[in-house]
Amino acid sequence: MSLTNEQYDAIMREYDEIRFRNAELTEKKVRALYEKFPELQAWENRAVTLKARKVRMMLDGASKTDIENLEDEATMLLVKRVALLEANGLSEADFEPIYDCPDCKDTGYIYDAKGNRSKCHCFKAREINLLYDQSGIKNFLEKENFSKLSLDYRTGDDLEHLKGAVKICREFIGNFDSEHRNLVLSGTVGTGKSFLSCCIAHDLLESGHSVIYLSAVSLFDKLAGRQFRKDEEESGTGLSELYDCDLLVIDDLGTELTNSFVASSLFSLINERELRGKSTIISTNLDLGGIKERYSDRVLSRLTGNYTFLKLTGPDMRTLLH
Ligand SMILES: [Zn+2]
Repeated sequence: MSLTNEQYDAIMREYDEIRFRNAELTEKKVRALYEKFPELQAWENRAVTLKARKVRMMLDGASKTDIENLEDEATMLLVKRVALLEANGLSEADFEPIYDCPDCKDTGYIYDAKGNRSKCHCFKAREINLLYDQSGIKNFLEKENFSKLSLDYRTGDDLEHLKGAVKICREFIGNFDSEHRNLVLSGTVGTGKSFLSCCIAHDLLESGHSVIYLSAVSLFDKLAGRQFRKDEEESGTGLSELYDCDLLVIDDLGTELTNSFVASSLFSLINERELRGKSTIISTNLDLGGIKERYSDRVLSRLTGNYTFLKLTGPDMRTLLH
């Protein structure tokens, strides 16, 4: 799966617009600062004059003392600038350009030390939104997020399980960029496991992460499709986004028709994502025994080794609500 030229152009146009908008905002912000503190402009003008004069003096062979006096004055200008900014709760950062994504400076691409270009995380997030047509999912996620969370229909142990899971889900979001973590949300129908994975997907999409949210059925359909097309198209159908996105949510694992292809695809997927340091959330109504039986020992051992298990219990909330 890859972007069509039109899709690529649309993304690049979006970056053009973002840069244009941010350049205007930056200019407005800096102009306002200079208007509020006109002495800043005067000092800057003076610093430029001093710099030019220094060059001339050096060419003319002026004395060391004269040059040093000039340097002292330039230093004093800087000291005054820092003092004025500090006294007004400002810093040089307030003069910096505004970016939606400071990592790529709203260009969509980042460069490593060797000058190799690669797509920025913000580009990948846009790409995934197009490729997986996440707009539909986004609407759905608007309805399923933490602001809609209710603890009203749970009591006793069920309530404690839900509260504990919510706490860990919130930590998962809060520490997403600093701590690599995976979750298995398990429970019977209507215990809130899909709801919680939606909440996480929603918040991480909002904060600009690349998220793919798929039911197990459509995930394995996609992977099987790739398998069939492998011979005809070597590249372009790699579904590399499934391995690369910041968060992959596999909803309702166990509802698909499980066979040996599904079991081995699941193993490769979670294994590869682990190697790449990418987080995965699985919701399932299977318990550990069920996972082992359907997907093999090695899948179970990957999950128990690298995933935090959250068990949700209680009657079906959806029937309680209706
Ligand atoms: Zn970026």
